[in-house]
Amino acid sequence: MTTPPLVTFVDQSGQLGGAEMMLLDAARAWRDRCRVLLLEDGPFRASLIDAGVDVRVIELGRGATEVRKAAGPTAAFRSVPALVRGVRQVVEALEPCGVVYANTLKAAVVAGLAARRRRVPMVMHLHDLPTAGHFTAMNRRVIRFAATHLADAVVANSHAAAVALRSIGARPRRMTVAYNGFDATAWHHDEDVARVPAVPGGRFCVGVFGRLTPWKGQDVAIRALAQTDDAHALIVGDALFTEEDRAYAASLRTLADELGVAPRVHFLGHRHDIAALMRRCDAVVHCSTAPEPFGRVVVEGQLAERPVVAAAAGGVLEIIDDPRTGRLVPPGDADALAAVLRELQDHPDEAHLMAHAGRIAATSRFSIDAMLAGMDRVVRDLLPPGGSRPSGERPPTLTHASARD
Ligand code: UDP
Repeated sequence: MTTPPLVTFVDQSGQLGGAEMMLLDAARAWRDRCRVLLLEDGPFRASLIDAGVDVRVIELGRGATEVRKAAGPTAAFRSVPALVRGVRQVVEALEPCGVVYANTLKAAVVAGLAARRRRVPMVMHLHDLPTAGHFTAMNRRVIRFAATHLADAVVANSHAAAVALRSIGARPRRMTVAYNGFDATAWHHDEDVARVPAVPGGRFCVGVFGRLTPWKGQDVAIRALAQTDDAHALIVGDALFTEEDRAYAASLRTLADELGVAPRVHFLGHRHDIAALMRRCDAVVHCSTAPEPFGRVVVEGQLAERPVVAAAAGGVLEIIDDPRTGRLVPPGDADALAAVLRELQDHPDEAHLMAHAGRIAATSRFSIDAMLAGMDRVVRDLLPPGGSRPSGERPPTLTHASARD
C-alpha cells in the first residue's frame, strides 16, 4: 500500500504573497511527505512544481475568491454557494492524509469544514492580524469561529498575531508561535547583484519591498524621500490582489510627480531577485501604516546585511532591537523616516555595524529549520499513535534534512 502524505497544505491564493513564500519553503523541505491544494490558480503553482511539490488546484470560483478582508455581509452571503461547492470539492480531494494544514484564512474555513467531514485534524497557520484595521467585524467573527471550532491547533507567525487572535475572542485548543524561517545563505551572496543596475551617480539608495497596497505605505517612503537632497528609491512589488491595490499603485506615480521626485523613484514591479536588489540598496525601508503580522521583508533586509528602518508595530517589534539590529519609526511618519535616513546617510560606519548585528541576529533567530521544527511538533501532536496511516507505520519526523535526503 502506498503511504499517504502526512500533510495536505491548503492555500487560497495562486499569487506569491508572504504566506505563500513561507509555504513554498515548507513544502519544498517536506515534499516527500506533503501535497498542496490551491484554491486558485496562479504563479504559485509553477513555483511549487519547480520545487518538486505535488500540487493540485481546486478553483473556488469568482463568487468565493472575491470575498476579501474588507468584505461585508453581502459579499459573504453571495459567496456561500461557491464556498459550499469548494468544501465538497476539497472533501473529495482530501484523500487519506494525516493532517490538513490550512495556510490562509479562507483555506481554514473551507478545508476546516472538509477536514471535519473527513475526520482529519486541521492546523491553521495564522499569517494575519485579525484586528479591525485589517478585517471587517464579520470576517473577524469567521476567523474566531475557524480558530476556535474548526482548527485543532493554530500556529501564529508572531506573538502579535497570537495576541490579536485572542483579542477577538478566539480560544484555540492549542496555539504556538512559529516565525517564518529563511535560508540565510541565499540572502548574502553577490553573484546576481552585478545584474541589478546601480542608481545614477552612486546616490544613496533606499529599497522598499512588498506588494503595492495602501496599508503597506509606499507613499510614506516617497514622502520621506522628498525630504532628502538626492536619495533614490527602488519601489519593488506590484498590486497583487484588488482593484483598490491597482488604484493605489497608480497614485504612487502621481505622488512622486507631484512631489517632484519622479526621476528619483524607480518602480520595478514584482521581482524574483529580492536578495540582489536589497544588496544594491544602502537601506531597506519598511513603512506599513497598519501593524504587520510578521514582516518578512524586515528579516530579509537584515539577512542581506542592510540597515533596516521599519514601522514600529505588530510583529516587526519582535524582529528589530532598535538601535542594535535596525531602526524603528512610528508608522506613517514620513518626517521621522526621513530623519533616520539622513542619519544613516551621514553615518555609514554606524549603519554598517547595525546591519552586521542585524544579520547575525536574524540568522540565528529565523532559520528554516527552526520554523519546520515548530510546525512538525504541532503536526505530530495531532496524530494518533501510529498516525492515521493505513500502513500503520509511525509518522516520520519532518525535519529539513530528512525531507531533502
Ligand atoms: N516579494 C517578492 N517580490 C516582490 C516583492 C516582495 O518576492 O516584488 C516578497 C518579499 O521578499 C517577501 C514577501 O514577498 O518575502 C512579502 O512578505 P511580507 O511578510 O513582507 O508581506 P506580506 O505580503 O506577507 O504582507
